[in-house]
Amino acid sequence: MSIILLGPPGAGKGTQAKLLVDKRGYIQLSTGDMLRNAVSEGSDLGKKAKEIMDKGEFVPDDVMIEIISEKIQKIGDSNFILDGFPRTEGQAIALDKLLNFRGRSLAAVIELRVDDDLLIKRVTGRFTCEECGSVYNDSFVSPKKDGVCDFCGNTNFSRRSDDSKTVMKNRLDVYNRHTAPLLDYYKNKGLLRSVDGMSSSEQVESQISGILDDKIAAKG
Ligand code: AMP
Repeated sequence: MSIILLGPPGAGKGTQAKLLVDKRGYIQLSTGDMLRNAVSEGSDLGKKAKEIMDKGEFVPDDVMIEIISEKIQKIGDSNFILDGFPRTEGQAIALDKLLNFRGRSLAAVIELRVDDDLLIKRVTGRFTCEECGSVYNDSFVSPKKDGVCDFCGNTNFSRRSDDSKTVMKNRLDVYNRHTAPLLDYYKNKGLLRSVDGMSSSEQVESQISGILDDKIAAKG
């Protein structure tokens, strides 16, 4: 069973995808993480992507479609969670073709609904442990001991360069113009399910689990 997590930046797609990886063994396909890896490797793709990401714009569809096609081909029949893809109608259509060609389909597209004010607080306040990747937030979850990661004891943290307030406002604007229309695209296909992304991550996880369990039961 494969799903898409859909929602604006800061909606919790990455957090929920990681929980599904841990609890259900799904494979997380995060295009944002793939691009950030390319940036840290200093590849040609990384250099081009960094400029675009730092402005909060989208990397062109043809580039993203090629990246995701390769990944989906590589993982064979494993269940996956798409986190950050598709982001445009062109990407959604390409994904349909790709899955169709491979004889696969999506079980659900799960929308995480969160108000803009909270999205901005979540994104502009977030910082990550450079060692183990644990995510914290100035307003919500600080390390128990100031400056020390709760999980691995590391003292180096980093912030994403596109998590500033100005860039975040543009990311939201780009989301509303290009990605939000996908909600109707998937609604028309009968795939869209929405959850309240404002509640705690445990509560969001339990809503998502409920949807997945229903799908599994319906499949028999
Ligand atoms: P994310 O980590 O999902 O918030 O993605 C970070 C940034 O990577 C986005 O703001 C875009 O610049 C770029 N990006 C990630 N996924 C895509 C995609 N599917 N299409 C275009 N750009 C993307």
